[in-house]
Amino acid sequence: MPQLARRMGRAKQSAIMLVAERARQLKAQGRDIISFSIGVPNFLPGPHVYAAAREALERDSGQYGSNRGADALLDAFLGHLEAAGLTGYTRANCATGIGAKHVLFNLCEALLDPGDGFAFATPYWTSYLDIGELLGADIQLLPCPPEQDYKLVPAQLDAALARKPRVFLFNNPSNPTGMVYTREEIAALAEVVARHPDTWVITDDIYHRMVFDGVGYHNFLHLRPDLRDRVIFVDSLSKTYGMPGWRTGFMAGPEVVAKALTALNSTHITNVPEVVTAAAVAALSGPQDVPQAQCEGFARRRDQVLEMLAQIPGVVCPRPQGAFYVFPDISVAFGRTHAPTGLRIGSDVELCNALLEAKGVACVPGSAFGEPRALRISYTCPEAQLAPGLQRFREFFAELA
Ligand code: PMP
Repeated sequence: MPQLARRMGRAKQSAIMLVAERARQLKAQGRDIISFSIGVPNFLPGPHVYAAAREALERDSGQYGSNRGADALLDAFLGHLEAAGLTGYTRANCATGIGAKHVLFNLCEALLDPGDGFAFATPYWTSYLDIGELLGADIQLLPCPPEQDYKLVPAQLDAALARKPRVFLFNNPSNPTGMVYTREEIAALAEVVARHPDTWVITDDIYHRMVFDGVGYHNFLHLRPDLRDRVIFVDSLSKTYGMPGWRTGFMAGPEVVAKALTALNSTHITNVPEVVTAAAVAALSGPQDVPQAQCEGFARRRDQVLEMLAQIPGVVCPRPQGAFYVFPDISVAFGRTHAPTGLRIGSDVELCNALLEAKGVACVPGSAFGEPRALRISYTCPEAQLAPGLQRFREFFAELA
């Protein structure tokens, strides 16, 4: 049989999807499974989104569309940018894609040659590593351990950017940690970015509407609008509007970058489909109360998770203020045994496997995000499952010998 391309040796299925798959298998066998694994919102978009999609279906042209994105979609995105305090952009600064994942891949493909430096913080969202590896970039990880609240500090970024990576990718609020940078922290990091003009900066801000405790959302561009010639903002419908499967993502940045993405779209996908475009326009320009309301619910769930974790001796968890993830350091369990099953816990992966087998609770091992001392809890399961899931989690730790 002929061989696959060499680059496929570096391509793998997302670890998050693998956990979700195992949980699905156990469920199919009749096990009572509670999934804290996948990061999907627990709400659907408002009826106006479905109405727009239905209407578009009625008059769908069935034709190819714009490589950049339909004008109506770009305009709706421009309105969304303004609402986020990012003004002064035009359609020429924007491009769309099949979800933020696709936009991020395209951006990396457009900006990175093989061997170019690609810097981002650890813990990172899994796909950053996958994208960098597939493109043959020189990945430069910036470790942000729990002792550092999982956040980059200015001196660390300064040292990293002094190596002149081609791209620095920044994620705020963070998946997997849920941490949110304060205005002061963003201001200090923006000053560092300003001192290193050789690096493109991608800000993956797809959770920016999900910020709690009044900390607010801040981007380098709010503090230093002069960085607009090399800071690229990425957003998506998936989390904010409860539309992960609709697959629509966006970028705003320098015209030359938006044009490059338009060219890549022309090669990869041609266009975001018409019906999806209509739904996306409705979500972006319709009532914004759905995302607002969700935030309050998420903050309450976050508190519930932290309260449970606080009852487990030795588990340490910086307090997240956004997204819908909690990322506790569970390394206290390493070297112990789950007494009722006899399963030995040597690592985060073994812990997650044992937790799933023994208690039917699915979490993602931290090593999937580059932090093997932790695991990720995504708290968007159905309301009725949250408390029992947390109780089983706590019981599991209580049963360690
Ligand atoms: N960035 C981050 C930080 C994410 O968590 C995700 C989805 N889990 C994405 C990008 C991709 O989002 P989508 O492709 O659904 O728009």
